[in-house]
Amino acid sequence: MGKESKQFLSKSDDIAFDLKHRDKIKFNISRYDAAVQKGEQRYDNIELARLRAAQKKRNVLANLYDYLLEFENNAKNNGSEVLWALDEKEAINYVVDILKQNNTKLVVKSKSMTTEEIEFNHGVEAIGVKSVETDLGEYIVQVAGEKPYHIVTPAMHKSKEDIAELFHREFDTPEHSSPEFLTNFVREQLRENFQDAEVGVTGANFLIADRGAIAVTENEGNAIMSASFPKVHIVIAGIEKVIPSYKDLGLFWPLLSAHGTGQQMTVYNSIYSGPKKDIEVDGPEKMFIILLDNGRTELYDQKHQAESLSCIRCGACLNGCPIYKNIGGYTYNSTYSGPIGSVITPHFKDFKDFKHLSFACSLCGRCEEVCPVKIPLPKLLLYNRKDSVEKGYPPFAEKLSTNLSSFVLSSRSNIDLVSGNIKNFGKKLVEHKIVGSKRKLPDIPSKSFSKQWKKRK
Ligand code: SF4
Repeated sequence: MGKESKQFLSKSDDIAFDLKHRDKIKFNISRYDAAVQKGEQRYDNIELARLRAAQKKRNVLANLYDYLLEFENNAKNNGSEVLWALDEKEAINYVVDILKQNNTKLVVKSKSMTTEEIEFNHGVEAIGVKSVETDLGEYIVQVAGEKPYHIVTPAMHKSKEDIAELFHREFDTPEHSSPEFLTNFVREQLRENFQDAEVGVTGANFLIADRGAIAVTENEGNAIMSASFPKVHIVIAGIEKVIPSYKDLGLFWPLLSAHGTGQQMTVYNSIYSGPKKDIEVDGPEKMFIILLDNGRTELYDQKHQAESLSCIRCGACLNGCPIYKNIGGYTYNSTYSGPIGSVITPHFKDFKDFKHLSFACSLCGRCEEVCPVKIPLPKLLLYNRKDSVEKGYPPFAEKLSTNLSSFVLSSRSNIDLVSGNIKNFGKKLVEHKIVGSKRKLPDIPSKSFSKQWKKRK
């Protein structure tokens, strides 16, 4: 068993039995569930909207290169510079060059999982540039020295009491401050940062091919400020984010908000189409769009799993997943967690090291049910498992136990080959190696059912 999978099992074991953690996640997800239920009711026919979105995204995948080239062409015509980054290292190198060319000391950054993927903050801090998260949830986890817990709600694992205590410790705010007080406190801090920063960074929910523009969805207005106050705007987006036309936003914006937060529409939906024009007074003077591959073309080459590139990162599959709710976001040790993370991470990172995530699923099918773009996540997890077996990755002990089990369970006489005592010895091994110390399998009777049945007759 590899280091990553060992850590995964041990962390899962700890978190699943941490009752305080469970209560916080249960509370936050129950609020999400109630909001989403309302959000879905606003649709006359949500199934039809999902079907249309799924078809639209599959069409994008079938013509991905054409749409990306169209996007690049139009973005350049708008005055943006488009940079293609093969991996996180190349993306960070581009960022570092831009920051140096623009004498940057401070960056304001809005919430973006793609920037998490390339370890943006770490990369720019290495050249002495301060990067401040401006989304409230991201700001909280940055102050706590943590990573986002969830792709939509980064501080989902913290209660309001946890946050009050954190801010009291770090900023000497009054003890037990209310969420309203702390929100205002953060707003005051960030306002100065927006004014001082030389560079603003955002992700992109969608890359609009026919306009060469990016669409950003948010609830706090911090992305608008990050994109428009500083003189330079850097966008970092995965290549799968492209959509054919701005007209498609009428479908995707409400679907994303209904599944992400339960809102009819998120509060701010902005389209950025290049640096400011000569006749404009405000806005950035330069706009750079970094298109990130980082494993996406590897995933694109997979016949089945490529479908996962349709994801619009709404987070609904995480909230619906019984495994995620029990083991939490950090246990995955990857930028993307939950069902979608378990499908894509082995391809984005090292397949051998992260293949275990594809096995962390009971295949209940809830994730596929809630996905707005109808990604068949359980099926894709099974394809990852199949690939893992075909590549010969399962450890020797697992292969041995699988072969042994298939032999033993193939016929009743094979089951009866050994006594109950030997079976109980095997059961203890399974408990020790797989089930863990917190649960027990039932004891196996000394005589099998068929032997007892024969005796009764
Ligand atoms: S896989 Fe579907 S449900 Fe999960 S985050 Fe992506 S779009 Fe949302």
